[in-house]
Amino acid sequence: MDRSAPCPCHSSLSYQQCCQPYHFGAHPEKAEALMRSRYCAYALNMPEYLIATTHPENEQYTKNTSLWKKSIQQFAQTTQFNSLEILEAAQIGTTATITFKAGLIQSRADASFTERSTFEKVDGRWLYLSGEVLAGNIRQ
Ligand SMILES: [Zn+2]
Repeated sequence: MDRSAPCPCHSSLSYQQCCQPYHFGAHPEKAEALMRSRYCAYALNMPEYLIATTHPENEQYTKNTSLWKKSIQQFAQTTQFNSLEILEAAQIGTTATITFKAGLIQSRADASFTERSTFEKVDGRWLYLSGEVLAGNIRQ
C-alpha cells in the first residue's frame, strides 16, 4: 500500500509514521501500538504478522499455520475495517489490557464489537494473549 496514505488503523497518521515499522519488524514499545498494528494487519490482510504477534498460550494459537493463515485471510477479505476506537489502556509490569471498539462491516452488515484484550510482553515483544468480547456481533 501507499506508505504516505492514512494508516488503516485510523490513527490519522500516515501508514509510514504509524504501523508500517512494526509490520517491517520493529517491536512496539506499548501494547496499544501492537494492538493498533494487529488491527491494521487484519485490514491489510497480513496473516504472518498476526500469527507472529499471537501468544503461544492464546486459544487460537495453533501449529497448523496454513489453516490459521487461511482463516485470517478469509476474515480479512470479507471484512471492511471502518474504525478503531481505544476506550481504555492499562499496563502493569509485562501485562497490558486494552479495551477497544472495532467498527467492522461484513456482508453489508454491522459486525462491530468491543473487546478487552490482554497482552503479555515476552522477551521484549508484546504478544496478544487473550480477548474477551464485551459487546458485538462476531467473535474473531
Ligand atoms: Zn496504524
